[in-house]
Amino acid sequence: KEGLRKTKQGFVDKVSNVFSGRTNIDDDLFEELEEVLIQADVGVKTTFALIEKLQEDVETENITEPEELMNYFQKELQTMLQNQEGGFKLDKKLNIIMVVGVNGAGKTTTIAKIAGRYKNQGKKVMLAAGDTFRAGAIEQLQIWGDRLGVNVIAQQEGSDAAAVAYDAVQSARARDVDLLIIDTAGRLHTQTNLMEELKKVKRVIDREAAEIAAGVEVLLVLDATTGQNAIAQAKLFNQAVNVDGVALTKLDGTAKGGIVIAVKNELGLPIKLIGVGEAAEDLQNFDPEEFIEALFS
Ligand code: GDP
Repeated sequence: KEGLRKTKQGFVDKVSNVFSGRTNIDDDLFEELEEVLIQADVGVKTTFALIEKLQEDVETENITEPEELMNYFQKELQTMLQNQEGGFKLDKKLNIIMVVGVNGAGKTTTIAKIAGRYKNQGKKVMLAAGDTFRAGAIEQLQIWGDRLGVNVIAQQEGSDAAAVAYDAVQSARARDVDLLIIDTAGRLHTQTNLMEELKKVKRVIDREAAEIAAGVEVLLVLDATTGQNAIAQAKLFNQAVNVDGVALTKLDGTAKGGIVIAVKNELGLPIKLIGVGEAAEDLQNFDPEEFIEALFS
């Protein structure tokens, strides 16, 4: 995968250097590995957990060759990433995805890519312009709606985001929509207000969805190039609205793909989608095995 080239070079090649070109498995190896992992945004907790696992492997499997231990490293990574399913099930009559994340993370493009994908699969898709705060956000979503041929529910700039969400659910219900994707604001400077607004939007969606047994998922969009910042943001959003899954964008733009591991292992959030470029097909369902395979092959 071309989109993971930087991470391959900046992360996997460095890991691989730690294991090759030395004859013994010693403290030095683990110290170097620790440094590489932390630099790659794997996260402190996860780095220590990985190293501990490897040290156990050395004991239990009687490993003496550093090169052999590299295979165990790959296996332990895979174990950490397993049990997450990419994409969305859409198994309810109406499925609602509430998309959250800070401005610039890639919310709008992610929404458009998801909408385009399911439209192509024959689903009836609707968008809701719930970022009523940022100038241009509503229009941007309407442009995407026109381009994709899907309805966009919108009110004026500055209107109540929860009211837009309410309208959207009613409208989706009336028009037999399969998938309703609700955009939300992502302004960072007034964080408390934002989180309160998101909570309110979520409450309205949950309440309206419960009445018609619709499915609700909160998708957090995170920019992989922002590293530990993205992890800190994720904690805030998760506290406010209980995130169900993550879309990790711009993986093509970072050499620190370790954030994929941190999201799952430090935050306990499944990765649903990864973005490895700007084109529609560059938003892919996350598949842990494929991901590891792409990195290590
Ligand atoms: P929003 O403010 O969160 O709605 O962000 P946008 O959707 O407008 O995206 C911000 C920028 O990131 C745009 O230029 C997108 O094309 C770009 N972008 C989004 N996802 C990806 C990705 O996976 N890879 C790359 N290279 N760019 C991306």
